[in-house]
Amino acid sequence: MIRYDLCCESGHGFEGWFRDSSAFEGQQEAGHLACPQCGTASVMRALMAPAVVKRGGEQRPDDGAGVPDVMMAALQKLRRAVETGCEDMGDAFAREALKIEAGEAERRGIYGRMTDAERDMLDEAGVDFVSVPWVRRADG
Ligand SMILES: [Zn+2]
Repeated sequence: MIRYDLCCESGHGFEGWFRDSSAFEGQQEAGHLACPQCGTASVMRALMAPAVVKRGGEQRPDDGAGVPDVMMAALQKLRRAVETGCEDMGDAFAREALKIEAGEAERRGIYGRMTDAERDMLDEAGVDFVSVPWVRRADG
């Protein structure tokens, strides 16, 4: 059994136990997971240290051009969950992620931006992070 930290689209955090990661994904896709606080089935794994929007050359336009609607909706939902459930560190993201990894800061979900150099630094430090395509909000 593995324990996952989960959060719903409203940012409520809770935990769930699953046989393995595919059991979690199966239940998630089937809509069998529900938030104990609000009952929504829009539940996903809480991101402990998601990194978003790289500065510089690789940054893609965020108008979602060419992104399928279903993907766009999922990304917008993800953005909302990240914004409600995680703390915006802005440019201090990489420094804070390193502190969390070292146990010098409270372990929590954070998001922000980082440079390629900072990304390499986190890789070397063994920090687990996720890159999230930052799409426009559903509400404009
Ligand atoms: Zn909820």
